[in-house]
Parts: sequence; structure tokens; C-alpha cells
Amino acid sequence: MTPAPVQRILIVGGGTAGWMAAAALSHLLGGAVRIDLVESEAVGTVGVGEATIPPIKLFNQLIGVDENTFIRETQATFKLGIAFQDWFRQGHGYFHPFSPYGTPVGVAAFHQYWLRANDGRGAVGALGDYSPGEVAARLGRFARPADATHSPFARMPYAFHFDAGLYARFLRRQSEARGVVRHEGQISDVQLREGDGFIRAVRLEDGRELAADFFIDCSGFRGLLIEGALKTGYEDWSHWLPADRAVAMPCGRVGPPAPYTQSTALAAGWRWRIPLQHRTGNGYVYSSAFLSDDEAEATLRTALDGPAAGEPNFLRFTTGRRRKTWNKNCLSLGLASGFVEPLESTSIHLIQSGLSKLLLSFPDTGFAPADIENYNRMMQAEFERVRDFIILHYHATERDDAPLWRQVRTMAVPDSLTRKIELFRSRGRVFHYEDELFQEASWIAVLMGQGVFPARCDPLTEIVPQDQVRHRLNEIRLAIRRAVEQMPTHENYISSRCAAGPLANADAGNRV
Ligand code: FAD
Repeated sequence: MTPAPVQRILIVGGGTAGWMAAAALSHLLGGAVRIDLVESEAVGTVGVGEATIPPIKLFNQLIGVDENTFIRETQATFKLGIAFQDWFRQGHGYFHPFSPYGTPVGVAAFHQYWLRANDGRGAVGALGDYSPGEVAARLGRFARPADATHSPFARMPYAFHFDAGLYARFLRRQSEARGVVRHEGQISDVQLREGDGFIRAVRLEDGRELAADFFIDCSGFRGLLIEGALKTGYEDWSHWLPADRAVAMPCGRVGPPAPYTQSTALAAGWRWRIPLQHRTGNGYVYSSAFLSDDEAEATLRTALDGPAAGEPNFLRFTTGRRRKTWNKNCLSLGLASGFVEPLESTSIHLIQSGLSKLLLSFPDTGFAPADIENYNRMMQAEFERVRDFIILHYHATERDDAPLWRQVRTMAVPDSLTRKIELFRSRGRVFHYEDELFQEASWIAVLMGQGVFPARCDPLTEIVPQDQVRHRLNEIRLAIRRAVEQMPTHENYISSRCAAGPLANADAGNRV
């Protein structure tokens, strides 16, 4: 007998993960499936998660939202990459741009020609001079590729910084308009079916019961269904990524918003600065083995560049992932599925990726084990690749000024990362898995930004004479510079196209 189709989905949790799931599924499944969402104002959301990476644009397109409307409603700014300060050594900085470096010079990858032509005395400039996104970020400029009419470059990938609370509300409006039914209330009990142990229903404190065929656990770190009820298990990665706390605190905006995130390494972790239209988000991610909460808060307060605009929000986490992202009739998304610290703004992307992979494996009520295993394998690979990229930032460092840095620079890292580092050290090549999130340019930016340089460059660069390479490189560099100088400032671009109005009273509360 053919199993019946899924007719009811219950999403547990109304943070970014819950409302992203509701918005995507209600848009894509139309009215074919009933979608309910339960959340509890008393429990609340983590309220952080404000920096993204370029695929978020696809998510907005997928759910049919106009980008300028989204920017206005979430007080968003544009993001061209991340400026890393003090990671490799104190006083040293580098930029991880979203846009790739250069344009083709010959058969080898662009950075190989740069490595060959670079004499260390600035003959061909810095590698970052060849990334339109990095040059624009450094000059505080921005234009969407379609608006950059003078640009010789077809694309300059960008993402956004946005207010997490406003984003969840924005998605909620989209979802409710498409028929998602929201229930306010705190879940007190999860009921399992006799026999197969699948989830049958959740019960709220006031006695209401919500049953469904398929449950999406977006309940945050606690993983109410996937862990609390199904005891799925968690793979702990804190031996590689020892940060287990964060304190977040917004401040008033001073000066024009930068089109990039700032990440500054500190003694026991790192600090973020995320510019929004109405305020700046700040936070300190740290290891409690090396720093107390009070010290973290004091350090963060000292670094605010504007008046504090809220109370500190303390968060605790264990880096790692759920052993199965999907177990029985429960799929976990967002923090319920695992967490890797937000150094490269990957968590919201993993929600998006989890949703798109769900659509590739959408179940019926038979919940075919092969589909579930395949989904779990794909998500495991995605989490592990993100993990490796984040570990690289900690491990490839000369810092030895604090116990945290002495620990991470000498620790053994996953073999998959060791192979990547060794391959790059040899000939500057980047091994890239099919469908890997971070592309070659990202690995190059962080590897070289953190002092990992190849012993030799690709022999294929020899085919092009050196003076020709230098000439071509200088042409590319100048063309990028000229194109970027014609872009408006980031601030002017926003104010002429997508400036947000002042916040309504309900939105202006103490939200981080
Ligand atoms: P939550 O926001 O915690 O939502 C959980 C939901 O479950 C809430 O609605 C809650 O009410 C509900 N719930 C829980 N228990 C119950 C119950 N018993 N009954 C009813 N409802 C319940 N990601 C990025 O991509 N970029 C970033 O810059 C970034 N920065 C971060 C910084 C920090 C310090 C941290 C900790 C995370 C950051 N993240 C970032 C991750 C990002 O915040 C999350 O991925 C995102 O907010 C999704 O959270 P969530 O919806 O899974 O969980």
C-alpha cells in the first residue's frame, strides 16, 4: 500500500529557523499541506543572528519577497565580506571578500599569477586589490551589480546584515498571509506513538494538543523534539572550537554603516561588530574556560563605539551537531540541529540549506529510511565543511599571547582540514568538494590572511611571460579601482533605494 502523503506539518519554534521554514514551505507547498507553528513568547528566541552570506538572496527570491522591501523592514545593510583583525597576529588584519579575485589571465587560477608576480614589494599590489567586493568595502562603497553600470564586472556577490527580531516578524507576516497558523503557548510534553516511537503530538501547558504527520524542530539549543523526546544524541566539537559563551549588546550607530562585518580576535575569543541602519550589533564570543561572564561584558562595553542600546544578552552553547539532523518523523533546523560559532555567518545559511535539501527528499508518511539517511549524510557533510573552515581561523595563527591561542594553534585538527592546508602549502591549490559552501576564493582569503602561503605556485603560470602577467594584473587592478570609485557610498546607496523608516514603538524595545 502506498503511504499517505504528509498532510499536516507542525513547526516547533518561531525564531529565525521556525519562520524561515514556515515562509518557505507555505510558499512552495501552496495549500497542499496544512502548516502550524507553535512558539512561546515566555521562552523567547536567541535574538541574535544578524550577519548572512550571499545565498540568502536566493532564499528571499524563493519565498517571493522584494529585496528592497525586505531591507527596509529589517533595517538591513549590505555586506561584502568580513574584516578580520588580530587573528593571525595582533596588529594584523585581512579581509575575506565574497567576490572572487581577478579575471582570467591564463589556464591557472588567478591567485597563482598573483603569487608569481608578487615580489613582496608591492609591484602588483595586494591580492585584495583584485576583489571588487574587498576594494568597495575598504572604500565604503556599494552598488548592486545591475546598478553598477560602469563596472566591467558582471557580479559582486553581496549579503545582508539585518535585525534578527524584525526578520522573524517579516517572515511571520509572509507566512501567515499564506495560511500558516500560529499558536502561542509553551510545550510541556511531547507524545510518542506506541510501537515505532514516532512523534504523535505536542501538548501545551494549557492542555491544548497539536498533532501532525511531520514535525520540524526549530526550538533552539534545547532541541525539544529531536533531543528531548527522541534522544538523538549530539556530537561535541568543543575540543576544536572551545568557545561556549557569547554576550551580545547593541549600541547606537555612529558614522555611516560599513558594508562589511568586523571580527576582532581577543584574548579568549573574538568580538563582532555588525552595522545595521538603526543601530550596531556587537558581541563577544568566548570560552568560559578562559574568561568570566563579567569580564566578557566589561570588555565588550569598552569596545562599543556608540552608547549602549540595551542590556547584555548572555548565551551558552556547545559547538557541534545533532547525530541525526532528521530522526523518524522529526527534522531539526537551526540551533536545534547544531551550532558552529558565527565567525563566518553560517547558521542562517544552514537553515536555508536544510530546507532546500528537505525539498529534495520530501517525505510521505512512510518516511523512507533511504531518504532520511541521504539527507543526514548531506547535512553532516555540510556541517563538517563549515566546521573545518572555522577551525582554520583559530588554528592558523602566530598568536601565543593567551592560553586560548596557545591551545588552538597547537591542537590536532580534523584530517580533512589538514589535507586542505597541506595541499595549499604545496602549490597553492584548493581542494573544493562538490557543492561545498565556501568557494576557492574564501579558502584563499583565509589561508593567506592567516599566514599560510604556498611553497611554490602552479607550474602552469610559467606559460605566460612574467612581464605580460604583471601588465595584465595592473590593468585588472586599475579597472577595479576605477569602477569602484564610481559607485555611490554604501550609505547613499541605501538612502536612495531602501532606507528604513524609524522603528515603530513595538519594535524599539530592548532587543538584541
Ligand atoms: P531560537 O531563536 O532560539 O528560537 C527557538 C524558538 O523555539 C523560539 O520561538 C521559542 O519560543 C521556541 N520554543 C523553545 N522552547 C519552547 C517550548 N517549550 N514551547 C514553545 N516554544 C518553544 N547566525 C548567522 O547566520 N549569522 C550570525 O551572525 C549569527 N550570530 C549568532 C551569534 C550568537 C552568539 C549565536 C548564539 C548565534 C548566532 N547565529 C548567527 C545563529 C542564529 O542566531 C540562529 O541560527 C538563528 O537565530 C536561528 O535560531 P533558532 O530559530 O534555531 O532558535
